Amino acid sequence: MMKRTHTCGELTNVNAGQSTTLMGWVDTRRDHGQLVFVDLRDREGITQIVFDATIGGVHDIAKTLRSEFVVAVTGKIRVRGEGLANPNLKTGEIEVVADSLTVLSEAKTTPFPIESDTTTSEDLRLKYRYLDLRRPKLQENFRLRHKINTTVRNTMDKHGFWEVETPILTKSTPEGARDYLVPSRLAHGNFYALPQSPQLFKQLLMISGFEKYYQIVRCFRDEDLRADRQPEFTQVDIEMSFPSQEELFGIIEEMMVDVFTLKGVQIPTPLPRITFDEAMNKYGSDKPDTRFDVFLQDFSEIFKKADACVFREMAEAGQTIRGFMAPGVSYSRKVLDDLTNYVKQMGAAGLAWIKPTDEGMSSAPVVKNAGPAAIDAVLKQAGAKNGDMVFLMAGDREPVLNLMGALRLELARRENWIPAGKWNMLWVLDFPLLEFSAEENRWVSRHHPFTSPVEADMGLLETNPGAVRAQAYDLVLNGTEIGGGSIRIHRSDVQARIFKTLGFTEAEARDKFGFFLEALEYGTPPHGGIALGLDRIVMILAGQASIRDVIAFPKTARAVDVMSGSPSGVSEQQLKELGLQIRKTT
Ligand code: ASP
Repeated sequence: MMKRTHTCGELTNVNAGQSTTLMGWVDTRRDHGQLVFVDLRDREGITQIVFDATIGGVHDIAKTLRSEFVVAVTGKIRVRGEGLANPNLKTGEIEVVADSLTVLSEAKTTPFPIESDTTTSEDLRLKYRYLDLRRPKLQENFRLRHKINTTVRNTMDKHGFWEVETPILTKSTPEGARDYLVPSRLAHGNFYALPQSPQLFKQLLMISGFEKYYQIVRCFRDEDLRADRQPEFTQVDIEMSFPSQEELFGIIEEMMVDVFTLKGVQIPTPLPRITFDEAMNKYGSDKPDTRFDVFLQDFSEIFKKADACVFREMAEAGQTIRGFMAPGVSYSRKVLDDLTNYVKQMGAAGLAWIKPTDEGMSSAPVVKNAGPAAIDAVLKQAGAKNGDMVFLMAGDREPVLNLMGALRLELARRENWIPAGKWNMLWVLDFPLLEFSAEENRWVSRHHPFTSPVEADMGLLETNPGAVRAQAYDLVLNGTEIGGGSIRIHRSDVQARIFKTLGFTEAEARDKFGFFLEALEYGTPPHGGIALGLDRIVMILAGQASIRDVIAFPKTARAVDVMSGSPSGVSEQQLKELGLQIRKTT
């Protein structure tokens, strides 16, 4: 067997005159009669091979080559003729004149061409994912992903974190999503759950005295999928004992700086920090996109003093009126209708606006009724000039903020407010510990039930649960959450109080997390950690719009692997062994 001496991405005119053996895939073949040119491709790049009819043997075989054949070529490296260099290729100055050619394997015609930019439907590409992954752009994504993993491991190792694996067949963990279940063959009617995250295990490792743990780990959540979600996804999962938030933030920031340097992106540290309240009030989001300076404002006070109108009634009844100034925006009726529909689809009652122009002022009727003084005051507070617009919405605080936050982003998209090449990473702090679930009619954890409340707020747990802050933090990049974590509860009495607040009876808490509550009683160090969404980080750095482009074998939006055909039915025998029977739904 011949030995490969170089990759297809490394030869330059420095190598001219040398011999080489290359192996790879036929990317393209151009037949010029006497001369046949083949672009030979491997994961490192492309090298042009020339098969000359005057060189015995090889030319005839070269004529039979087709795209995606795998071949080995030996030949001499020579500088290409005057004006024939290809500046787009690293190897563009040279070519290899073949004197031997071996076809290592033939290939059927592929269902789509192997090229970086493709118009082939994603379904077809996913069916033949192994071919899709040959596309140079995707290969670059995985090179980047590998380098990010390596950087993560280096940073963790440097700071004394141990990489420890935790079980995949486990007990249901409470991250709040639906579990994937695995039936037990040995105990019919019992199920393992695939971990939504290793949350309890990493905390147990702290109780075990491991002090610093990390894992690049697969997590499973059976949720409805969106572009940046997959049923299985990867987290960089981290936990440490005796932590201070500052120490943990320092380590994560160092890791992020190193990871982003891989793509030449500089992240200035220390990262800015913003509280949850400020993020909501200014940006209408708990993952604020701070790349453009359009800020939400509170106009409630103005409307309390307005002429009698709906907005005044709402403000007086304790509802809120929030809005923002959209600079340089003067929309027609049609666009305003579109925007109104946009927020209505998300649950808004409506959208109000004021449009001051050189020709005069117009506004939505709900605002007009508030009278000219109120309108003037709004424009003044918003800093709006002729040719700008102010958008307003009234209602309950949290939904209004969320809706105006979404509208702010929608306008940024329409108006190109977000400058290219900006990377705004920041911490969001002081989240509320709990939120009220109308559906379940109880308080639920915003992060997960092991998050520690802020010490000073402990007294409010029973009296005003909604006001208790959590020692939780999220890492946000350009308006996307890329990580989140918290300082944990390390005392069993506090943990029991939280479960109580969440509406678990003691028996329920014992049944679900008894092993963990017991573990807490054997000497638990204060501990805390974080999990970073690796797929999203790679996706953003690779400049991709979907995490499927950075996961080797992803599933479709319907959670299907169209290549292998999973999920799929199983045999009667398998079901029998598992003690399962499929109920036919008609
Ligand atoms: N386990 C949490 C999550 O997956 C992260 C953490 O609290 O460390 O969201």
